[in-house]
Amino acid sequence: MGWFGCFYCDGPLTVMELDHVIPLSRGGADATSNLVPACSPCNGTKSNQPASLFVHDQTQPTAIAVRA
Ligand SMILES: [Zn+2]
Repeated sequence: MGWFGCFYCDGPLTVMELDHVIPLSRGGADATSNLVPACSPCNGTKSNQPASLFVHDQTQPTAIAVRA
């Protein structure tokens, strides 16, 4: 793990939040392999979307490609 900012927007994390890449509500595991650091705005915006869909709408295709 080498992130120092939000997984989605690369912004600073004033409070460390961990977001489920695959939401628990969609069958994701509650394990570190399914968790990424996310800032509050991104975590709130993403809601229960799978990370692959959420990131697709942003401009960081390489970030998810490495993780996926
Ligand atoms: Zn963010």
